Amino acid sequence: MSDTLVLGNDDLIFQEETPPEISTDSSLPPWKVLIADDDETVHSSTLYALGNVSVLDRQLKFFHAYSASEAREILQSEPNIAVILLDVVMESDDAGLNLVHQIRNELQLEELRIILRTGQPGYAPEIEVIRDYDINDYKTKAELTRTKLFTTLTAALRSYMQIRTINANRQGLDLIVHSSAELIATQGIKDFAQGVITQIAALLGLDADGVVCARSSEDDAGHPCYTVVAAAGPNLDSVNQAVESLADDAMRNALLESLRTHNNNFQNHGIALYFPCKTGRDMCVYLRTPCLPSKTHRGLLAVFCSNISVCLDNLSLFTNLKSQAYFDQLLMLPNRNHLIEEVDNASTNDNFNQMAMLLIDIDHFAELNHALGHQYGDLLLKQIAERLRKHCNNQLFLARNTGDCFALFGTSQVINTKALVKLLADPFSIHGNEQVISATFGLAQMSEIDGGGQEAIKAASTALNQAKQTQRGQIGVYTREVGTQIQSRVKLLQKLRASFEHERLFLHYQPQVSLPDGKPIGCEALIRWRDDDGRYIPPDVFIPLAERSGIITPIGEWVMRTAFFQAKQLHAMGFPQLRMAVNVSMIQFRSEGFLAMLDQALADSGVDPTLIELEITESVAMLEADYMLQMLEQIKARGLQVAIDDFGTGFSSLSYLQRLKIDRLKIDRSFVDQICHSEDAKSIAEMVIELGKSLHLNVIAEGVEDLQQAERLSQLGCHEAQGFVYAKPMEATALVKWLLNQQPQRPSTE
Ligand code: C2E
Ligand code: CA
Ligand code: CA
Repeated sequence: MSDTLVLGNDDLIFQEETPPEISTDSSLPPWKVLIADDDETVHSSTLYALGNVSVLDRQLKFFHAYSASEAREILQSEPNIAVILLDVVMESDDAGLNLVHQIRNELQLEELRIILRTGQPGYAPEIEVIRDYDINDYKTKAELTRTKLFTTLTAALRSYMQIRTINANRQGLDLIVHSSAELIATQGIKDFAQGVITQIAALLGLDADGVVCARSSEDDAGHPCYTVVAAAGPNLDSVNQAVESLADDAMRNALLESLRTHNNNFQNHGIALYFPCKTGRDMCVYLRTPCLPSKTHRGLLAVFCSNISVCLDNLSLFTNLKSQAYFDQLLMLPNRNHLIEEVDNASTNDNFNQMAMLLIDIDHFAELNHALGHQYGDLLLKQIAERLRKHCNNQLFLARNTGDCFALFGTSQVINTKALVKLLADPFSIHGNEQVISATFGLAQMSEIDGGGQEAIKAASTALNQAKQTQRGQIGVYTREVGTQIQSRVKLLQKLRASFEHERLFLHYQPQVSLPDGKPIGCEALIRWRDDDGRYIPPDVFIPLAERSGIITPIGEWVMRTAFFQAKQLHAMGFPQLRMAVNVSMIQFRSEGFLAMLDQALADSGVDPTLIELEITESVAMLEADYMLQMLEQIKARGLQVAIDDFGTGFSSLSYLQRLKIDRLKIDRSFVDQICHSEDAKSIAEMVIELGKSLHLNVIAEGVEDLQQAERLSQLGCHEAQGFVYAKPMEATALVKWLLNQQPQRPSTE
């Protein structure tokens, strides 16, 4: 039995044939084989020999070229030709070899296998050519029996297949390395999921059409629940859907199977890939595919999955960190940072100006916490949070702003403060204890602010603080005017602090005289502030500010010490009976260590305490009777005098005044101002003077601006006076001059 190919002038004739077994997998595309030969009979006899055979489970598809240039054209236009059976001698003696050169160097077809054929052994290519151009085989046509042709072709195709696989693997691995790097950089499961689909699709050379599902929660029995968190392609509408409710049967079943078995699941219609995750956020991807992926692809996908799982671990850690950073861990509510981000994000929306932020501050929570314990407080907060969560019903963004202060953010119309008041008015039940609470609210419309989250919280807090100051349980509303006022107040306060620190505050002294002779008997220390620009800022403006910020305490201490030292100096300068009146703010008066500070200032200055008078405003003196009585007792014990300032503007009762140990009533400027014009004022002035007399108190009138007023006061029996008609407040040196002027006969001792 011979299968020798008989050669006659390049002819190929098969003498005897044993056809190779045919077994093909129709789903695989045929191998493309190009026959390049200028002899028509070679084409036909090759077809005859191999036309019906299948190699490595695939059929053959032949392309025919009758010259090197024709072959080149086919190679350029037809992709994935596996083998070329190339005649060396065609239009020229070296046409075939030239084509080999072009195939490798110009067309860059590195995977294509080349089998050279020649009729004449003399035309055999050099060994270097075979090596350099990666020639698969070289055969004289005489050697090519049908079986040999089959064997040679099979070997070439096998090598083609392996090269293809290696290349696919290499490209795939490159892609995996690249995609891992990309996916590590993603922040958030949605981005990550989208990235995974894109990368798998790229790996398989498909369109990105699929979904990703990730563990979202657990059911009551502790079984994980999965939701579709991100999708690509035409499945976008399934985002946030539970896997079980996916409409696409194939998709749903493949995903569920994969999640159940923790394995990849390859089907003809699509593939499900399972990504385990150490931190318990496992995930599964489903991608539609036109056919079952090749073994190479499946191998690559396995590498991809294990690689990406590492990224998923990182992502979970990251998400965890993010949760810590953005959620309050006690109430599992978004925290302040999250709130800020939410508002910031909304600030680019068209309807931002229709949105609002409401702060809800639980009244007296700190005291409750202190009295009943933190655990109790925590439980209460949890119940409040739960009620608010239900109330918001995803329509409003609910956050924990600070300890006992919640925040709602959303469309103004949805924010219903009345409903919230009612909601919180219902008692809470904690450890069987009925707990009633109330809350104070601060509301800020986004249309009233410039900026985002930070500014919104600030504005709502401002409104809240205002409500707290006026009355708890109320709603404060922020407006632009309030904002500007506060802003300028804050700026002024900053300036005041700086001026105080740099010792740029100073005192003026306004003389007080006796009536009717006008002899100096004392003076009142009044604070002065000229800011950096040389502008004079009246104490009526900055004292309330200093009181509210608490800086009044150190400032007041400074005033007191300075005035005491000044008094001591004046006494030494020849005015030994001169009284020094010092204004004391209620905040300062009530500050801890006030008496100790007073003692220290008295001791340090060495001033005679009986020549010092503390002025306390009437409205303040009326607050907290017990405290006042006790404090005044202490002050009197030290020998100091006490005057009630701005008298007539408050509501002191006679009996109360009797109990207070005071020396002097100071009739308010407003009554003095009116004393010669208005009957009412006159009667109040008269009344005050009468009152003073009956209580055996001295009465001084302030703000006396003309002699007429002085005369009238004198007639009424007022003992003392202070006002521009005698002297304006002035510096210490000017005061000394003034005093000397009043008593020219008494020269200064210094
Ligand atoms: P006050 O205690 O009632 O002080 C008297 C105010 O009346 C002073 O204003 C004084 O300059 C002003 N005055 C005196 N005579 C006349 C007059 O004939 N006509 C008019 N129109 N005004 C007169 P000043 O210095 O601007 O102080 C305003 C307020 O600031 C004081 O009212 C006092 O409540 C507060 N204050 C001033 N210095 C201090 C201080 O050292 N400590 C504290 N806590 N408060 C101070
Ligand atoms: Ca005063
Ligand atoms: Ca006054």
